[in-house]
Amino acid sequence: MDFVSGNIGWIEVICGPMFSGKSEELIRRLRRALIARRRVQVFKPVIDDRYSDNEIVSHGDQRMRSEVVSNAQDILDKLDWRTQVVGIDEPNFLGADLIEVANQLADSGKQVIIAGLDTDYMGRPFAPIPELLALAESITKTLAICMRCGNPAKHTQRLVESTDLIVVGAAGMYEARCRRCFEPGVPRQELLEFARPRIPAQPGPLA
Ligand code: ADP
Ligand code: ZN
Repeated sequence: MDFVSGNIGWIEVICGPMFSGKSEELIRRLRRALIARRRVQVFKPVIDDRYSDNEIVSHGDQRMRSEVVSNAQDILDKLDWRTQVVGIDEPNFLGADLIEVANQLADSGKQVIIAGLDTDYMGRPFAPIPELLALAESITKTLAICMRCGNPAKHTQRLVESTDLIVVGAAGMYEARCRRCFEPGVPRQELLEFARPRIPAQPGPLA
């Protein structure tokens, strides 16, 4: 959407599983906006402190300065209204309120670029991306590489036992899987690991 001129606003969504290059693509687009001398602000939720608290960071260690917000409304509070391009990473931590905020920003003439997970650890659509896709002018779906078979991967496989919708983590806790290799919830192999006693039973002296 680089070709639009004037101060018409719009929403761009970049979505896919973890490790699919969403943050890399967000950073690439924001860098291009800076080259075009646009005023850029980047926001990420405070809950996502995996790598840095004042930068968005890709798994390949690309970085870009960002501001931390505790909720979607915080974006409006921290916004410099001269800003032309608004980048938002990890929107799944901001919830459904982001839908209205993104719309408001776009309606006021800003280019809003959002990069987030489209499905959760069970393979279900993951708010607020489904609604944002319906409202966006531009949609990009990114795929990762399946860690089991090497095919294109659309799923984020959770490797640790939890039924919480949000468990913050990266490599080791999650991996990318294709449709065939994805196992909703915790994979069988890892379940077996959990079921196994941590300390193998030793025969006692009287055994
Ligand atoms: P996302 O924001 O979608 O989680 P990132 O942009 O942070 O993804 O990271 C993408 C990078 O992750 C890739 O360029 C590659 O270096 C690395 N990577 C690690 N595991 C995988 C995988 N299974 N498939 C593709 N890329 C991977
Ligand atoms: Zn696979």
